[in-house]
Formats: sequence, structure tokens, C-alpha cells
Amino acid sequence: MSSEMKPKPEMDGVNSALFTGLKDGKLLVQQCNDCKNLQFYPRPICVKCGSINLGWKESSGKGKIYSFTLIKRVIMNSKEFESELPYLIASVELEDGVRIYGRLKDHNARIGQQVFLDPLDAGDIGLPGFKIS
Ligand SMILES: [Zn+2]
Repeated sequence: MSSEMKPKPEMDGVNSALFTGLKDGKLLVQQCNDCKNLQFYPRPICVKCGSINLGWKESSGKGKIYSFTLIKRVIMNSKEFESELPYLIASVELEDGVRIYGRLKDHNARIGQQVFLDPLDAGDIGLPGFKIS
């Protein structure tokens, strides 16, 4: 199934930099300009200090697997992903100290393994994806 037919994240003024950055192979993590806190997922305010003065920091995209799960079946609203089963979704702890969810493109994962950014192509945007180093 083509990436154009799959559901995509709803883009808005808060999260669009994340997905367009991934399209260009860059992982942009939201950062508070006041307290420097990094946060994922993108939000309109800093979860640490409440500031609305937020920007973006380019991450190296390197990190380690914090946790992961094997997806073996899809539910009603996700039929578009059936052809990709089984696949892994990982929580990756980036070198920057923030955790991000993304597709893990390998099937031999272990907690603590080093990974690097390898975004998924979703047409006009990219989605978080990782490969084992
Ligand atoms: Zn802050």
C-alpha cells in the first residue's frame, strides 16, 4: 500500500516542524527557549516551566531503545498497516535526554541497543523511524 493512502498525523502550527524536518532527514525536538527543556511530543507550552516561548533543536537522531512492543495485528481504524505486520514500535531515549516514539525497522531488538534515525517516508512528510546501529 502506498504511503499516500495511510492515515497521517494532523499537522498544525505546533507539530509541523517535526514532520517536515523528518521528511528532510532531520529530527527536530521541541525546546523551551526559557528553561531549555526538551520535550516530545510537540505541545503549545513547555511542560516544565509553562512558557510559550518554544523553538526547535536538531537532534543527532542517535539514542538507545528504552522500550519496545511488537505489533502483531491492527485494530479497526488501522487496516492500512496490515500489510506491514508484524512491526516494532520503540520508545527511544535520544542522546539529548528526551524519549521519542517511532517505528523500529529491525526485528531483533533488545532494550538498551543503540539506534539511529531512519525516518519513514509518508509522502509529503516523514515519520519517526529508527534502525539498530
Ligand atoms: Zn520551559
